[in-house]
Amino acid sequence: MTDFPPGMVWLVGAGPGDPELLTRKAARLIETADVVFHDALVGPGVLDLIGPDARIVHVGKRSGRHSKDQATIDALLVEAALEGNRVVRLKGGDPAIFGRATEEIEACRAAGIAVRICPGVTAASAAAAGLGASLTLRGLARKLVFVTAHAKAGEPLDIDWQSLSDPQATVAVYMGKAAAGDVSRQLIEAGLPTETPVALVENASLENERHFHTRLDLLPLAARTALGDGPALLLIGAAIGFAQLAQPLRASEEALPARPQEP
Ligand code: SAH
Repeated sequence: MTDFPPGMVWLVGAGPGDPELLTRKAARLIETADVVFHDALVGPGVLDLIGPDARIVHVGKRSGRHSKDQATIDALLVEAALEGNRVVRLKGGDPAIFGRATEEIEACRAAGIAVRICPGVTAASAAAAGLGASLTLRGLARKLVFVTAHAKAGEPLDIDWQSLSDPQATVAVYMGKAAAGDVSRQLIEAGLPTETPVALVENASLENERHFHTRLDLLPLAARTALGDGPALLLIGAAIGFAQLAQPLRASEEALPARPQEP
């Protein structure tokens, strides 16, 4: 295979969990790999594609349960490639979104190893799909922001709340479960209305996907009480409110309020 010679590393997007949301390219690379390093968020259906003779290394990192630090993962990738293996580094969602891809690319390049990215469906796309919502909405949500609310242990969140408090934006908060209280308080302080629609989507694209609709001021309560143990995304903004309105109305859209027209 010309794009995957021995000694090369591919950072492959595994998508949000549903194996059918893998790209065909991702599936081919996974099937071809001699060694696969994967995260905790990569589901069983995706791992099933790995060839019977391949070595599988779980390098899962989930909040509070770090099994291998980033430098160790970088070193393992380099070592496996230098041994002449075709290496797949399988990451949840898209490798280039909150996936520490740059560290791994730099480590490979520093060692003279060829490295490429295969994109994947990111969690925000899967969450919106599950809600039956659009992340953007003509005239109402012209901007889409992906932000992580994961802070280093013991440090406050370093986020420019002012820039996120745009009523014309949809904000997708990754790793936001623990910080839901802060997200809510800071966005309201920065000027977003308390009744701004929020959806929480847990296990997007998986069989145990769950959705909760709430509003910005009630987000902390919802995050504390409604969510289980799975990965969850917070979606905030007017466009998300349209999803909520649309939910019970799948058959008839008549009751949807008129949407502002583009000037
Ligand atoms: N690279 C990944 C994101 C990694 S950060 C991507 O593009 O999706 C990990 C965070 O992503 C989780 O804490 C959660 O907020 C979100 N996430 C990943 N998979 C998810 C899923 N199936 N459902 C909901 N959120 C998910």
